[in-house]
Amino acid sequence: MNELLGQLRKCLGPEHVLTDASSMAPYVTDWRRRYQAKPLAVVRPGSTAEVSALVRACASARVAMVPQGGNTGLCGGATADRSGHQVVVSLTRMNRVRAVDTKNDTMTVEAGCVLHDLQQVAASSNRLFPLSLASQGSCVIGGNLSTNAGGTGVLRYGNTRELTLGLEVVLASGEVLDALRGLRKDNTGYDLKHLFIGAEGTLGIITAAVLKLFPLPTAQCTAIVACDTPQQAVDLLELARARAGASLTAFELFSALCLELVLKHYPGCTPPFAGAGMPVAAGRDSHALASLHPQYVLLELSDSSPQSVLQGHIEQILAAALEAGLIRDAVIAASEAQRAALWALRENVSEAQAHEGRNIKHDISVPTSAIARFITQTDATLERAFPGARRVTFGHLGDGNLHYNLAAPIGVEPAQFESRLDEVNALVHDSVLQFGGSISAEHGIGQLKRDELPRYKSAIELSTMRSIKRALDPLGLMNPGKLFAD
Ligand SMILES: Cc1cc2nc3c(=O)[nH]c(=O)nc-3n(C[C@H](O)[C@H](O)[C@H](O)COP(=O)(O)OP(=O)(O)OC[C@H]3O[C@@H](n4cnc5c(N)ncnc54)[C@H](O)[C@@H]3O)c2cc1C
Repeated sequence: MNELLGQLRKCLGPEHVLTDASSMAPYVTDWRRRYQAKPLAVVRPGSTAEVSALVRACASARVAMVPQGGNTGLCGGATADRSGHQVVVSLTRMNRVRAVDTKNDTMTVEAGCVLHDLQQVAASSNRLFPLSLASQGSCVIGGNLSTNAGGTGVLRYGNTRELTLGLEVVLASGEVLDALRGLRKDNTGYDLKHLFIGAEGTLGIITAAVLKLFPLPTAQCTAIVACDTPQQAVDLLELARARAGASLTAFELFSALCLELVLKHYPGCTPPFAGAGMPVAAGRDSHALASLHPQYVLLELSDSSPQSVLQGHIEQILAAALEAGLIRDAVIAASEAQRAALWALRENVSEAQAHEGRNIKHDISVPTSAIARFITQTDATLERAFPGARRVTFGHLGDGNLHYNLAAPIGVEPAQFESRLDEVNALVHDSVLQFGGSISAEHGIGQLKRDELPRYKSAIELSTMRSIKRALDPLGLMNPGKLFAD
C-alpha cells in the first residue's frame, strides 16, 4: 500500500493525498451519519489527467475507488467501507467552468462545480440552469449526474439526465471517454453517457459534462392551495397542466401534518391562509393549527411573459379549480417575500421532520394517476400494522415522486419505532411495487437500499445491469458494495 500512496503523491502532489484521520474526517461520514468509512486515503485530483493517473495506479494495485462529490447523498453511496483498503476520490477541486456557449445554450463544466454556483454562472449569462435541490449549496454536478438528481424543476425541465448533452468519464482502466459533445441530435449508436448518469460511481468517474441551458424566466407566480384529498390534488394537476402547459414549473404536495411540523419547528413560518388569506407575520395559535386543511399544494408558473399575464393564468386556474370543487382555499404570493414564505412551508418539511426526531424515510415514485390510490391504500395498511404511526407525506406530485416518511406514534420512542424499519420498508415498498412504482425516485440505491433491490427489480434487469458492470469494470474496483452487494 505504501507503494501506491507514493505513486498517488507523485501524481497529485503530497498535499492532495490525505491519510491522517483528522484531514480525512470531512470525507468519511455520510450526510445522515449512518455510515462511517475507514479509507486508505482521500485523494483530491485537480484535472482529468490526474484522475486518469490515479485510476491507473489504483487499478494496478487492485485498490477500489469511491468517487465523492459534495457528500450530500442520502444512501451512503459516497462512503467507503471500513476495510482500510479503499481510496476516496473527491472531485471538489475540479470546479472550473470550461465554457458557456449562449448560442448553443450549453455550458461545459467540471464535475466538482457546486450546483448553486452553476445556477449563478447560467444566470450571469441570462440563462437558467434549472436543476434545483435543497442541498444545492453543497452538492456538486458530478454527484448530481451520478445520482440523476431530481428536485423541484423536474416537472418542466426533467431530471439531471435530461439536462445533459455530453460527458467526460475516466473509465476503470484509466482511459478517458471524451463524449463532451453539445449536440441535441446525435444518433450514432449507443448513447454511452446514459450508462454513467445514475450509476452512482460504479462504472467510472465523471470528470466533466455539457449541460443544457434555458431562457431565464422573467416572471414567476406562486400559489398554495388547500385540498381535502390527494385525488383532488391530482385532478388539480391535470387541470393546471391543461391550462398552463409548459409554464407550470412546480407542483408540490404536502399534508397537514407536514405543515404542522414546519409551523412548530420554524417559528418564522406562518400558516398560508391566516388573516386576509396572505401569509401573516404573527405567531400561530391553536385555532390556526386546528384549521389546517388535510392537503396542500404549492404550484408555480414561470415563463417569459409579463407578470400580469402569468398572474391572470394562475387566477383562472384557481377559479376553475374552485368551481370544480377541487380546492377549498388559495393564496397567491403578491411579492417576492411572500413567494419565499410560501416556498419555505414546503422546503422546510424535511428538516422540520428531522427536528421532530428520527423517522423512517421513503423516496418513492408511482405513476401520477395512481398516487392518490397509493396513498389511501398504503395509509390504511400501515395504520393496521403500526397503529398511530404518523405519515409525513410530501413531495414532487407533478413527477409522481413522494417522500412517504413515517414518524413514531405519539408516545412511542423514535428508536423503538425505527427498530421495525425492515417491516415498515417491506410494507411500503411492496405497495409501491403493486402500483407499478420505484423504491428510489431520486436519491439512488447506494448502500441503503442495496439489499432490497433484488426484491423490487426483475432478475433480467439485474443480470443485464451486472453484465454492464462486468464489461466496464472487470476488476470490480469502481465503488464496490454500492447498488450490488458484491
Ligand atoms: C437537504 C437535502 C436535500 C436533498 N434534496 C434532494 C432532491 O430534492 N432531489 C434529489 O435528487 N436529491 C436530493 N438530495 C440528495 C443529494 O443532494 C443528491 O443525491 C445529490 O445529487 C448528491 O450530490 P453530491 O455531490 O453530494 O454527491 P455525493 O453524495 O458525493 O455522491 C453521490 C453518489 O454519486 C457518486 N459520485 C459523486 N461524484 C461522482 C463522480 N464525479 N463520478 C462518479 N460518481 C460520482 C458517489 O460515489 C455516490 O455514489 C438532498 C440531500 C439533502 C442533504
